[in-house]
Amino acid sequence: MTEPLVKIQGLKKYFPVRGDKIFGEKKWVKAVDGVDLEIRAGEIVGLVGESGCGKTTLVNVLLRLEDPTEGKIYFDGHDLTSMSEKELRKHVRQNIQIVFQDPFWSLNPRMLVRDVVGEPLSVHRDMSTNKKANTVAELLKMVGLTPEGLFMYPHEFSGGQRQRIAIARALALEPKMVVLDEPTSSIDILSQAQILDLLLQLKEKLGLTYILISHDLSVVHYMSDRIIVMYLGKIVEQGPATKVFTQPEHPYTQALFSAIPTLDMNSLDDLHILEGSVPSAIDPPPGCHFHTRCKYAMPVCSAEEPEMITVGKDHKAACYLLDEVRTSKV
Ligand code: SF4
Repeated sequence: MTEPLVKIQGLKKYFPVRGDKIFGEKKWVKAVDGVDLEIRAGEIVGLVGESGCGKTTLVNVLLRLEDPTEGKIYFDGHDLTSMSEKELRKHVRQNIQIVFQDPFWSLNPRMLVRDVVGEPLSVHRDMSTNKKANTVAELLKMVGLTPEGLFMYPHEFSGGQRQRIAIARALALEPKMVVLDEPTSSIDILSQAQILDLLLQLKEKLGLTYILISHDLSVVHYMSDRIIVMYLGKIVEQGPATKVFTQPEHPYTQALFSAIPTLDMNSLDDLHILEGSVPSAIDPPPGCHFHTRCKYAMPVCSAEEPEMITVGKDHKAACYLLDEVRTSKV
């Protein structure tokens, strides 16, 4: 067994609520509230949950774009939570890169593609102009673009091609891990499939580790080795992608995945839409946060938080209904 590439222990990120002092007690938005997570090198981990569940904040804290309120984050054996900005630049900024949802906004429209892709090399590497030019041309080739593109501007490319440029830029510093934040949601359906396949090829070729954030659960299922499901700042289920997708154990995961349309459905009435909206993270429901929307809720659910229990190989979920699974395994 090797050490995981990422190890997160008891991570919390609370944001103060502005103007709270009028009522005395200080209020916090509990965006991430006690997350434990490990990611092995070479894995693709899909992070899912409705808007406001904390997945973007979790990644921002992992990238140290936000400071954690509590808890530890280890990346490749380094404790990121106790690092100075200089150490972070050395161990994090180069080794963890991010590909954003909309390449139109994430690429500087006034820079030639040559400079967009080469910028990280100019900042972090001491390279001759020639070597940099060759590296950038190589990166462009790796993402399926021709050298002519070097002297064009991002807006001269299609959405899918722009996302290829963003991927080339993210790979310039040879990172160990790439965060893919809704990487295909702003491009057409054909380009989506091509970008996903390119990402899978690059992962194999370069030995990358991905964290994939997406609202498109079919994309998450297609890409991921493991799926992490978050609800109101907490992980409620995690396990192998196929297991979580086909045999979800937590009622929230079941509701989330049953809302995906499939070809064998007769009408949209067959979809099981998750009712109600995510409660406020300022004052989350006590006990199991999901009890206000759960059709199986019992009195104990609103009294005490269920603990995460193992329900199969590498598969865990936090729900009182699963106590039977635990009992049967003892
Ligand atoms: Fe539903 Fe209770 Fe399980 Fe929460 S603990 S998901 S409320 S059954």
